[in-house]
Amino acid sequence: MERYNVIREKNPREIVLLKGFPCIWGKCAFCDYTDDNSRDEDEMLALNSRILSRVTGEKGVLEVINSGSCFELPEGTREEIRRIARERGIRRLFFESHWLYRKRLEEMRAYMGIPVTYKIGVETFNHEFRERVLNKHAGFKRPEEVARYFDSPCIMVGIKGQTKEMIDYDIRMVKKHFRLGTVSVFTNNTTKIRQDPELVKWFVREYAWLREDPSIEVLYENTDFGVGD
Ligand code: SF4
Repeated sequence: MERYNVIREKNPREIVLLKGFPCIWGKCAFCDYTDDNSRDEDEMLALNSRILSRVTGEKGVLEVINSGSCFELPEGTREEIRRIARERGIRRLFFESHWLYRKRLEEMRAYMGIPVTYKIGVETFNHEFRERVLNKHAGFKRPEEVARYFDSPCIMVGIKGQTKEMIDYDIRMVKKHFRLGTVSVFTNNTTKIRQDPELVKWFVREYAWLREDPSIEVLYENTDFGVGD
């Protein structure tokens, strides 16, 4: 599995996919990447060290993802991120976190000592679909609540049961309330959630303009950031 890449297009940055302890929730209906979680701290520390050793600081920005939330990274890995950021001139970190950790975001910012952009897997601002179908366990009702804590929501599109209206609303809310966002096209995986290919075709056509939008990154495949498998 590829775990390091340099993103050269929108928001240039280095990105690493590290290993962390099991996701605090771990029950999202569409998610099978928690398979990358581990309980073997020594193995995680060794692997994460190897990946982090590739970071050069060339873009001054580092995104760290870990099939969960940054709070699930082993403490030794968090220390290493902080040290490498200092040594290699990283001015900003990107982390991701579940809604459940929203009260701890500042704690991590203070620990790292440099600005952190927090991503959150919102999937959709439609409460019913997010909670009943996707089982996200992120109980906010309005985008403003998310914007109070997080900088950059990740939206998922092209899921069976989702509608064009939901997607229109989600993208409108990302544009209105956030400076940055990510839109991922759902691709079938080992879960029971299925892609709606017609909806994907519609999205790709209707939202082709997002390719030119500097604030929103669109992932047509899970591996479009150059990490994962
Ligand atoms: S919070 Fe993220 S890692 Fe955890 S189960 Fe949901 S999608 Fe998967």
